[in-house]
Amino acid sequence: MDYRILGKTGLSVSALGFGAAPLGGPYGPITQADATRTVRLALDLGVNFFDTSPWYQASEDVLGEALVGVARESYVLCTKLGRYPSAERPSGEFDFSAARVHQSIDNSLRRLKTDQLDIALCHDIEFADNFQQVIDETLPALRECVAAGKVRFVGVSGLPLAIYPRVLDQTPLDVILSYCHTSLNDDSLWDLIPYLEEKSVGVIGASPLAMGLLSDTGPQPWHPAPEALRLACLEALAWCKAHGVSLAEQAVAWTLQNAPVATVLVGMSSEAQVRQNVATVGTSPDPEAIKAIQEILAPVHRLTWPSGNVTL
Ligand code: NAD
Repeated sequence: MDYRILGKTGLSVSALGFGAAPLGGPYGPITQADATRTVRLALDLGVNFFDTSPWYQASEDVLGEALVGVARESYVLCTKLGRYPSAERPSGEFDFSAARVHQSIDNSLRRLKTDQLDIALCHDIEFADNFQQVIDETLPALRECVAAGKVRFVGVSGLPLAIYPRVLDQTPLDVILSYCHTSLNDDSLWDLIPYLEEKSVGVIGASPLAMGLLSDTGPQPWHPAPEALRLACLEALAWCKAHGVSLAEQAVAWTLQNAPVATVLVGMSSEAQVRQNVATVGTSPDPEAIKAIQEILAPVHRLTWPSGNVTL
């Protein structure tokens, strides 16, 4: 495993990070026993960065249980606040108030069975009813959690890249998490890297499989991609199948090799996926396959989808 320093946090993080969203079940059911085996194998193979959120249903509970007995200093734990499951609203409940920050951090600490989170991120801030609240209320509350020793580093996550300068022009952050913009079909995060470096922000790049668009089985029905993007990815998958290539393996290897980020988070829910993804660290993707996939994806290069309320 390769390790890199996450911005000015000084944290040494594995090049491949463990995205724990699948432990909450969005890609299919998973038992605690399978989750524990998957997490423990990842640790054994050198993965030391784990990312979860209260929004990912049971993920925090399942990850916390899987980590029981593992030396706390041997892994970096990142969770989020502000976005929560909701029975009424499929896109979730959003609450970026200071009171909810404190409540949410205490709940995460309990579910993750620890007394300190390494990183806490304001989750999908483009959905905040009042974007300025994140800067004026949510982040200051989170910094109170840092002062209380419950959290070490703070940041934000979300889909539209414009959210990052909008925050960072007003207040410093330790880290940001960007998803679905550091993959074969969309590498638009990379344009923002010089700005983020200037701001000394640690960068976490998530979803090199574009939340399943570049997996070997195609996306889940809930995937928000526009039809053109979904179809192009299915065409790339068909090419890979016809040529005996794993699209997922190529996609992960390509991002790991090229992405200018500290850690690449892949959502993993089986020991086989952990083994396959760890095996790609430090390897090069197949140039012929990458050329063919990129040609198929060229018409939808950097095509994304709307997210949140804010006009940025
Ligand atoms: P992803 O792009 O990592 O894809 C996950 C899918 O790929 C799952 O279906 C998984 O089973 C499959 N997969 C993984 N390895 C595979 C392999 N070797 N072969 C075939 N299939 C494989 O999407 P993700 O899980 O949504 O994103 C990664 C992580 O990033 C999340 O788990 C989460 O921790 C984080 N994330 C954060 C945000 C946010 O903060 N807003 C958004 C998205 C993701």
